[in-house]
Amino acid sequence: DAEVALVGRSNVGKSTLMRELTGHSFDTGGKPGVTREPNHYDWAPEDFVITDLPGFGFMSGVDEDLREEIKTEIVHYLEAYADNVLVAVLVVDGKSVIDIIDRHSGPDEIPYDVEMFHFLRELDIPTVVAVNKMDKVDNEDERLNELCDRLGLYPPWKQWQEVIAPISAKKGQLEPLHEAVREHLHEQNRDDLF
Ligand code: GDP
Repeated sequence: DAEVALVGRSNVGKSTLMRELTGHSFDTGGKPGVTREPNHYDWAPEDFVITDLPGFGFMSGVDEDLREEIKTEIVHYLEAYADNVLVAVLVVDGKSVIDIIDRHSGPDEIPYDVEMFHFLRELDIPTVVAVNKMDKVDNEDERLNELCDRLGLYPPWKQWQEVIAPISAKKGQLEPLHEAVREHLHEQNRDDLF
């Protein structure tokens, strides 16, 4: 089946988003998903499968080696299934994403989120960055422009509505994500799926 893959750091709201998209309930707020396998669910009412990949990045109580291992598994999964993945959704926390990216930017360090974004593009997987928790962000345009800048997309963000989708999973405000995914499917002539 055609597939939409969800990736993101742990605690960005991936489970909440999955619940909103699929109607299934997921373990939210529980233990971070250590060594979880990719999970596949139907994205009703659309005719494709949504795959939830394990959360990556810092998790309390999870050591560096395991973190790297999880990241490697995600990378391998995406490489193996790139042809099948119609769209990837990289979920970030709008409230903290800029701080986290800047904290991990340096001569020898590429932040996970930025690395993942470029990796997905290298694999030719159309990618939407779902900027979650926007209900907690006051200066929305400024935040989204900063994010574009960090991802190497020329601001203003409004030029990138196929890529940058501000959402609030908790409040069920997902239209920009639906819109962006729809746009990518349209470009691939997969309107039949939506
Ligand atoms: P996951 O680790 O990425 O699966 O994250 P969860 O879905 O478990 O969410 C982590 C925390 O963020 C929980 O406390 C959620 O209630 C909260 N959360 C998720 N989405 C939103 C959102 O859109 N807005 C706000 N304010 N909080 C959210």
